[in-house]
Amino acid sequence: EYISVANLARAVKMRLDDFIVQMQNMGFEDVSHDHVMNAEVAGLIAMEYGYEPIADTSKEEDLLPRPPPEDKSVLQPRPPIVTIMGHVDHGKTTILDWLRKSSIVATEHGGITQHIGAFSVTMPSGKIITFLDTPGHSAFLSMRERGANVTDIVILVVAADDSVKPQTIEAIKHAKAANVPIIVAINKIDKEGTDIDAVKQDLAKNGVDIEDFGGDTQVVLVSGKTGQGMEGLEEAAVTLSEVLDMRAETDGPCEGWVLEAGTEKRGRVATALVNRGTLRPGDIIVAGQTWSRVRSLINEHGVEVEFAGPGTPVTVDGWRDQPLAGDSILQAVSEASKKVINFRMEKAERLRQATDMEAINNQRRAQREKEAAEKEIREQALANKQDPDAAVAASEKLAAEGRKKYEVVNFIVKGDVAGSVEAVVESVSPLGNEEVGAKVIRSSFGAVTEFDVDHAAAAEGYILCFNLAVDPEIIQYARNKGVTIMTHNVIYRLVEEVTAKLSERLPPLI
Ligand code: GDP
Repeated sequence: EYISVANLARAVKMRLDDFIVQMQNMGFEDVSHDHVMNAEVAGLIAMEYGYEPIADTSKEEDLLPRPPPEDKSVLQPRPPIVTIMGHVDHGKTTILDWLRKSSIVATEHGGITQHIGAFSVTMPSGKIITFLDTPGHSAFLSMRERGANVTDIVILVVAADDSVKPQTIEAIKHAKAANVPIIVAINKIDKEGTDIDAVKQDLAKNGVDIEDFGGDTQVVLVSGKTGQGMEGLEEAAVTLSEVLDMRAETDGPCEGWVLEAGTEKRGRVATALVNRGTLRPGDIIVAGQTWSRVRSLINEHGVEVEFAGPGTPVTVDGWRDQPLAGDSILQAVSEASKKVINFRMEKAERLRQATDMEAINNQRRAQREKEAAEKEIREQALANKQDPDAAVAASEKLAAEGRKKYEVVNFIVKGDVAGSVEAVVESVSPLGNEEVGAKVIRSSFGAVTEFDVDHAAAAEGYILCFNLAVDPEIIQYARNKGVTIMTHNVIYRLVEEVTAKLSERLPPLI
């Protein structure tokens, strides 16, 4: 399980001396040819040389899930992870929407809830349930295929007016194969002329041991449409999770799953669902072929949080490459693995800076080309006995007219926390049509300042302020400068007002 520097150098086909220098660059001091390292560190270094190591790490402690604890009872209870399954049109999305709304009500301003793949609902009792919010089987199945048993409980939705259908049977099979207990939600009970007993019979025929027939599978009657019975459904999930006695460590290296991954303004992000330990900014985590030094954790309400414990979904940034849904997350704790990862992070940063340099060089080139073009216009004007200044001005005017077809309205976005600023920027940036569009020229969280007002005034733009009170003095200052500050606590109102501002700039209809 250990490999010497000399052997690793041979494996990656490097000269030993060069290889040792490289390792010193990575931050390894005192490396000699017989310095040994574990498989994980060696693997990470080999990846640096373009190899895809297949390491047998079965004996390594770091970057492997910890063995389960001997005595579970000392652990903290954790929220259950619930997936909703069932036949198409039986009401999965409707039920999820209802549950999501009840999660929004619990938050302060209730407006922005982003789809991050999961959300948590706090019950009146204080108990928390986490729902995976991709309806249908795809999330569950793709996770299962990757060996991830993320779900603790399946809520099987069956429409009272349609009873058991092929996808219902499939869902029953999957839940059984994964050994995940089911709660049946018979939905659409608000509809007339339904036969609940017949549905129960059908379920029993398909191997669901429902309570009414002496089994232990709870059946809850609900209407996702009217909300009837929905609290009962949540309670059933809490009760079942207490019976299952789900607990997890809140300390030690963090473990979890990637639920979703994508790219946002803040870079690559992934929704992490922690199942052991606690995730914090600054942690280094590895998922699949990539890793992150976590910069920030943001929950489904767009609020930045300081930590995420077991059963809590959060979006995590700072990824070097895009992780994949279903990847398991492990925290790197050994100093050696951190060193390699830090080195790679810095390398990525240098690459980014180099890209910035390229942008600057492009700008310089464009400037040079412009100057050359002007020179040519002047020379031609002189040859034709025309005024060179007028010729340049005329050509610039033409170019400007070409550009003017599309009008940009500038906005400066301010908000209470980074997450809400992000959400506002994302909602506002795409607004507009082929004639006029919104452009966020700067965004940051924290109070509106005189500088923001000056900037908006210079850019003839507006200040968008989300979830923030504006200082009366600043309001007066903005008024003097002719700058409008729009304040909102609900994102769609803000979007409405921005849209209205954009339409004001459209040329009058003829
Ligand atoms: P999914 O395909 O399982 O996600 O089902 P949807 O949530 O999209 O629901 C399918 C249809 O059933 C939609 O037209 C819903 O409005 C309707 N529906 C869902 N739940 C109920 C309910 O409790 N009562 C009634 N009457 N209609 C419902």
